[in-house]
Amino acid sequence: MRILVIEDEHRIANSIKKGLEQENYAVDIAYNGDDGYDLASTEEYDAIILDLMLPGMDGIKISKNLRKEKIHTPILILTAKGQIQDKVIGLDSGADDYMVKPFSFEELLARIRALIRRPKTTIDQVLTVSDLTFNPKTFAVKRSGKLIALSNKEFSLLEYLMRNKGRILSKDQIISHVWDYDADILPNTIEVYIKNLRNKIDLPFKKNPLIKTIRGFGYKISGD
Ligand code: CA
Repeated sequence: MRILVIEDEHRIANSIKKGLEQENYAVDIAYNGDDGYDLASTEEYDAIILDLMLPGMDGIKISKNLRKEKIHTPILILTAKGQIQDKVIGLDSGADDYMVKPFSFEELLARIRALIRRPKTTIDQVLTVSDLTFNPKTFAVKRSGKLIALSNKEFSLLEYLMRNKGRILSKDQIISHVWDYDADILPNTIEVYIKNLRNKIDLPFKKNPLIKTIRGFGYKISGD
Protein backbone atom coordinates (compact mmCIF):
# COMPACT_ATOMS: atom_id res chain seq x y z
CA MET A 1 0.00 0.00 0.00
CA ARG A 2 1.37 3.39 -1.00
CA ILE A 3 0.78 6.64 0.87
CA LEU A 4 1.42 10.27 -0.02
CA VAL A 5 2.29 12.67 2.80
CA ILE A 6 1.75 16.36 1.96
CA GLU A 7 3.36 18.28 4.81
CA ASP A 8 5.70 21.29 4.82
CA GLU A 9 7.24 20.63 8.23
CA HIS A 10 10.12 18.38 7.24
CA ARG A 11 10.57 16.89 10.70
CA ILE A 12 6.92 15.77 10.92
CA ALA A 13 6.82 14.57 7.31
CA ASN A 14 10.02 12.57 7.68
CA SER A 15 8.98 10.97 10.94
CA ILE A 16 5.60 9.95 9.49
CA LYS A 17 7.41 8.44 6.49
CA LYS A 18 9.81 6.53 8.73
CA GLY A 19 7.00 5.24 10.93
CA LEU A 20 4.83 4.17 8.01
CA GLU A 21 7.75 2.44 6.30
CA GLN A 22 8.29 0.39 9.43
CA GLU A 23 4.70 -0.77 8.92
CA ASN A 24 5.58 -1.80 5.35
CA TYR A 25 3.90 1.10 3.53
CA ALA A 26 5.61 2.75 0.56
CA VAL A 27 5.66 6.50 1.23
CA ASP A 28 6.22 9.64 -0.86
CA ILE A 29 6.50 13.13 0.62
CA ALA A 30 5.57 16.48 -0.91
CA TYR A 31 6.81 19.48 1.10
CA ASN A 32 4.51 22.00 -0.56
CA GLY A 33 0.97 22.11 -1.86
CA ASP A 34 1.71 22.33 -5.58
CA ASP A 35 4.03 19.31 -5.59
CA GLY A 36 1.50 17.47 -3.43
CA TYR A 37 -1.34 18.14 -5.81
CA ASP A 38 0.80 17.11 -8.81
CA LEU A 39 1.74 13.80 -7.21
CA ALA A 40 -1.77 13.11 -5.91
CA SER A 41 -3.29 13.69 -9.33
CA THR A 42 -0.75 11.77 -11.41
CA GLU A 43 0.43 8.86 -9.24
CA GLU A 44 -1.66 6.07 -7.71
CA TYR A 45 -1.96 6.20 -3.93
CA ASP A 46 -4.00 4.19 -1.48
CA ALA A 47 -4.26 7.11 0.96
CA ILE A 48 -3.12 10.73 1.35
CA ILE A 49 -2.12 12.40 4.61
CA LEU A 50 -2.74 16.10 4.06
CA ASP A 51 -1.64 19.15 6.06
CA LEU A 52 -3.85 22.22 5.65
CA MET A 53 -1.47 25.18 5.95
CA LEU A 54 1.01 24.69 3.15
CA PRO A 55 3.17 26.87 0.93
CA GLY A 56 1.58 26.98 -2.53
CA MET A 57 -1.82 25.36 -2.87
CA ASP A 58 -3.41 24.90 0.57
CA GLY A 59 -4.81 21.61 1.83
CA ILE A 60 -8.49 22.48 1.41
CA LYS A 61 -7.91 23.48 -2.19
CA ILE A 62 -5.93 20.27 -2.86
CA SER A 63 -8.75 18.16 -1.45
CA LYS A 64 -11.44 20.06 -3.39
CA ASN A 65 -9.48 19.93 -6.66
CA LEU A 66 -8.79 16.21 -6.38
CA ARG A 67 -12.47 15.46 -5.84
CA LYS A 68 -13.35 17.75 -8.73
CA GLU A 69 -10.95 15.69 -10.88
CA LYS A 70 -12.82 12.56 -9.73
CA ILE A 71 -9.82 11.30 -7.78
CA HIS A 72 -11.26 9.49 -4.78
CA THR A 73 -8.10 8.48 -2.94
CA PRO A 74 -8.93 8.49 0.79
CA ILE A 75 -7.66 11.70 2.42
CA LEU A 76 -6.76 12.12 6.09
CA ILE A 77 -6.28 15.75 7.08
CA LEU A 78 -3.57 16.21 9.69
CA THR A 79 -3.43 19.76 10.98
CA ALA A 80 -2.83 22.08 13.92
CA LYS A 81 -6.23 23.71 13.21
CA GLY A 82 -8.53 22.01 15.67
CA GLN A 83 -11.67 24.14 15.77
CA ILE A 84 -14.98 22.49 14.91
CA GLN A 85 -15.32 24.98 12.06
CA ASP A 86 -11.99 23.87 10.60
CA LYS A 87 -13.02 20.22 10.78
CA VAL A 88 -16.28 20.94 9.01
CA ILE A 89 -14.52 22.85 6.22
CA GLY A 90 -11.97 20.06 5.92
CA LEU A 91 -14.52 17.27 5.66
CA ASP A 92 -16.73 19.34 3.36
CA SER A 93 -13.78 19.71 0.99
CA GLY A 94 -14.03 15.98 0.31
CA ALA A 95 -11.55 14.64 2.89
CA ASP A 96 -12.49 11.41 4.68
CA ASP A 97 -10.99 11.91 8.11
CA TYR A 98 -9.42 14.56 10.29
CA MET A 99 -6.71 14.48 12.97
CA VAL A 100 -5.37 17.35 15.05
CA LYS A 101 -1.67 17.84 15.85
CA PRO A 102 -0.05 16.85 18.12
CA PHE A 103 -1.16 13.33 17.32
CA SER A 104 -0.37 9.81 18.42
CA PHE A 105 1.27 7.72 15.74
CA GLU A 106 -0.70 4.66 16.85
CA GLU A 107 -3.95 6.51 16.19
CA LEU A 108 -2.69 7.75 12.83
CA LEU A 109 -1.91 4.16 11.84
CA ALA A 110 -5.30 2.91 12.96
CA ARG A 111 -7.06 5.62 10.97
CA ILE A 112 -4.97 4.93 7.87
CA ARG A 113 -5.85 1.25 8.11
CA ALA A 114 -9.53 2.14 8.40
CA LEU A 115 -9.36 4.49 5.39
CA ILE A 116 -7.61 1.95 3.19
CA ARG A 117 -10.10 -0.80 3.91
CA ARG A 118 -13.17 1.44 3.73
CA PRO A 119 -13.83 1.16 -0.02
CA LYS A 120 -13.55 -2.62 0.15
CA THR A 121 -16.59 -2.71 2.48
CA THR A 122 -14.96 -5.34 4.59
CA ILE A 123 -14.89 -5.11 8.35
CA ASP A 124 -12.89 -8.27 8.51
CA GLN A 125 -9.36 -7.30 9.53
CA VAL A 126 -7.71 -10.51 8.36
CA LEU A 127 -7.38 -10.96 4.60
CA THR A 128 -8.08 -14.46 3.32
CA VAL A 129 -7.53 -16.29 0.05
CA SER A 130 -8.37 -19.99 0.34
CA ASP A 131 -6.30 -21.26 3.30
CA LEU A 132 -3.88 -18.31 3.17
CA THR A 133 -4.44 -15.58 5.77
CA PHE A 134 -2.80 -12.19 6.25
CA ASN A 135 -3.28 -10.07 9.33
CA PRO A 136 -2.36 -6.47 8.35
CA LYS A 137 -2.10 -5.48 11.99
CA THR A 138 0.37 -8.12 13.16
CA PHE A 139 1.82 -9.01 9.72
CA ALA A 140 1.20 -12.66 10.50
CA VAL A 141 0.92 -14.63 7.25
CA LYS A 142 -0.25 -18.21 7.52
CA ARG A 143 -1.08 -20.96 5.09
CA SER A 144 -2.90 -24.03 6.40
CA GLY A 145 -2.23 -22.58 9.85
CA LYS A 146 1.53 -22.54 9.30
CA LEU A 147 3.31 -19.22 9.92
CA ILE A 148 5.30 -17.93 6.90
CA ALA A 149 8.24 -15.50 7.24
CA LEU A 150 8.32 -12.76 4.59
CA SER A 151 10.53 -9.75 3.91
CA ASN A 152 9.00 -6.25 4.19
CA LYS A 153 8.49 -5.89 0.45
CA GLU A 154 7.04 -9.39 0.18
CA PHE A 155 4.51 -8.42 2.86
CA SER A 156 3.54 -5.29 0.92
CA LEU A 157 3.28 -7.17 -2.35
CA LEU A 158 1.17 -9.94 -0.83
CA GLU A 159 -1.09 -7.43 0.93
CA TYR A 160 -1.69 -5.57 -2.33
CA LEU A 161 -2.49 -8.81 -4.18
CA MET A 162 -4.79 -10.01 -1.39
CA ARG A 163 -6.66 -6.72 -1.09
CA ASN A 164 -7.41 -7.10 -4.79
CA LYS A 165 -8.21 -10.80 -4.63
CA GLY A 166 -9.41 -12.17 -7.99
CA ARG A 167 -8.39 -9.04 -9.89
CA ILE A 168 -5.66 -9.11 -12.53
CA LEU A 169 -2.98 -6.58 -11.63
CA SER A 170 -0.43 -5.34 -14.15
CA LYS A 171 3.23 -5.01 -13.23
CA ASP A 172 2.89 -1.24 -13.49
CA GLN A 173 -0.03 -1.24 -11.06
CA ILE A 174 1.95 -3.38 -8.65
CA ILE A 175 4.97 -1.09 -8.91
CA SER A 176 2.93 2.04 -8.26
CA HIS A 177 1.14 0.62 -5.22
CA VAL A 178 4.00 -1.21 -3.56
CA TRP A 179 7.05 0.98 -4.26
CA ASP A 180 7.54 4.70 -3.70
CA TYR A 181 8.39 7.26 -6.36
CA ASP A 182 12.13 7.17 -5.76
CA ALA A 183 12.38 3.42 -6.11
CA ASP A 184 13.91 2.42 -9.45
CA ILE A 185 11.91 -0.71 -10.07
CA LEU A 186 11.77 -2.44 -13.42
CA PRO A 187 8.96 -4.81 -14.43
CA ASN A 188 11.53 -7.65 -14.31
CA THR A 189 12.06 -6.98 -10.63
CA ILE A 190 8.39 -7.74 -10.03
CA GLU A 191 8.91 -11.19 -11.55
CA VAL A 192 11.69 -11.83 -9.06
CA TYR A 193 9.52 -10.75 -6.12
CA ILE A 194 6.59 -12.84 -7.35
CA LYS A 195 8.90 -15.85 -7.69
CA ASN A 196 10.21 -15.40 -4.15
CA LEU A 197 6.67 -15.04 -2.83
CA ARG A 198 5.58 -18.23 -4.63
CA ASN A 199 8.52 -20.08 -3.12
CA LYS A 200 7.15 -19.19 0.29
CA ILE A 201 3.37 -19.30 0.01
CA ASP A 202 2.71 -21.77 -2.81
CA LEU A 203 5.59 -24.18 -3.42
CA PRO A 204 5.98 -25.71 0.05
CA PHE A 205 2.27 -26.50 0.33
CA LYS A 206 1.91 -28.74 -2.72
CA LYS A 207 -1.65 -27.56 -3.29
CA ASN A 208 -3.14 -25.50 -6.08
CA PRO A 209 -1.01 -22.35 -6.43
CA LEU A 210 -2.76 -19.16 -5.31
CA ILE A 211 -0.63 -16.69 -7.29
CA LYS A 212 -1.46 -16.93 -10.97
CA THR A 213 0.41 -15.47 -13.94
CA ILE A 214 -1.88 -14.06 -16.59
CA ARG A 215 0.37 -14.04 -19.67
CA GLY A 216 0.71 -10.63 -21.22
CA PHE A 217 -1.30 -8.95 -18.43
CA GLY A 218 0.13 -9.53 -15.00
CA TYR A 219 -0.77 -11.44 -11.87
CA LYS A 220 -3.67 -12.25 -9.64
CA ILE A 221 -4.21 -14.11 -6.43
CA SER A 222 -7.23 -16.35 -6.09
CA GLY A 223 -8.26 -19.60 -4.50
CA ASP A 224 -9.82 -21.22 -7.56
CA1 CA B 1 1.90 23.29 7.61
